[in-house]
Amino acid sequence: MTETALLQPRRRSRQIQVGSVAVGGDAPISVQSMTNTDTCDVEATLGQIRALAAAGADLVRISVPTLEAAEAFARIRAESPLPLISDIHFDHRIALRVLELGVDCLRINPGNIGREDRVRDVVESARDHGVPIRIGVNAGSLEKEIQRRYGEPSATAMVESALRHIEILDRLNFPDFKVSLKASSIAMTVVAYRLLARQIEQPLHLGITEAGGLRSGSVKSAIGIGLLLAEGIGDTLRVSLAADPVQEVKVGFDILKGLQLRSRGINFIACPTCSRQKFDVITTVNTLEERLDSVAKPLDVAIIGCVVNGPGEAKEAALGIAGGEPNLLYRHGEVVTKVENRDLLTVLESAIRQELEREEESAR
Ligand code: SF4
Repeated sequence: MTETALLQPRRRSRQIQVGSVAVGGDAPISVQSMTNTDTCDVEATLGQIRALAAAGADLVRISVPTLEAAEAFARIRAESPLPLISDIHFDHRIALRVLELGVDCLRINPGNIGREDRVRDVVESARDHGVPIRIGVNAGSLEKEIQRRYGEPSATAMVESALRHIEILDRLNFPDFKVSLKASSIAMTVVAYRLLARQIEQPLHLGITEAGGLRSGSVKSAIGIGLLLAEGIGDTLRVSLAADPVQEVKVGFDILKGLQLRSRGINFIACPTCSRQKFDVITTVNTLEERLDSVAKPLDVAIIGCVVNGPGEAKEAALGIAGGEPNLLYRHGEVVTKVENRDLLTVLESAIRQELEREEESAR
């Protein structure tokens, strides 16, 4: 099996535009997160958006639960470095207000708005402002009638719910939407996306909802989102963690990096360590990860503890250190210098920074 056979060809979805970011079609799979500050606290929310932007987020979603929050949302958007999605439940007046004040995408389920004339007003306003809609189905909040009929949440129940909302947009001839189908169960989520992916052409927003804390939630998200991405399904993603939203963005990129679908920042290839290690691999990797956290340019760096796997891995990466007597620093497959343990961190960090600069210069 070849490496590329792992990934099935990407499902061709209809591209939509969320502000400056294209979602679907052949656009890069975007990474998004959601603020957890009080939306009415404009400064705190903007601070979090900036932190998310620094971590590489493409899009940010913000809850807009009240008309007061809609006014705050407008002030936030005026200064936001990233396109913003407003998350609205039920209240069409809030949707109309954010559309009037400026928004890049509306997350609202048309079937939950209520009266037909209200749904039409929101959809017409979204059309007039060139704003797409995200339909977000969640296994925990399916319509009562669907819940009654299915007894408990299931992939087919979620798809039925999504199709109801989609039908409303179809009737109003509004094709600029994307859909998410989230459950905290990996199996239910994956099956639901597979079913819907065959029935519509719109982009799909992936996520495992309420996945858990940083470690367990990242693992669940990586399995669920990773399975779908490997099948070519998915145009944008959010990793939902009970953790700092910045971590959601980092894990999102790690999933995309792991599947070689997008690259960002330093990709450390490090051995798990054992008694053969000739230097402290774990401290070296953790310290460099922290020091180079803000680097956005992709670069492969191998940090391997001994000669068992060291030279092989170090030669494959742009830069690599192989533990030994002496430790050897490789650059593009060639040994460039010997490094003493006490100098290892300093030498590696400056070699990485120089390499990034060199690459930047040659790209000019
Ligand atoms: Fe141990 Fe060497 Fe393998 Fe690292 S590369 S885990 S130090 S044998």
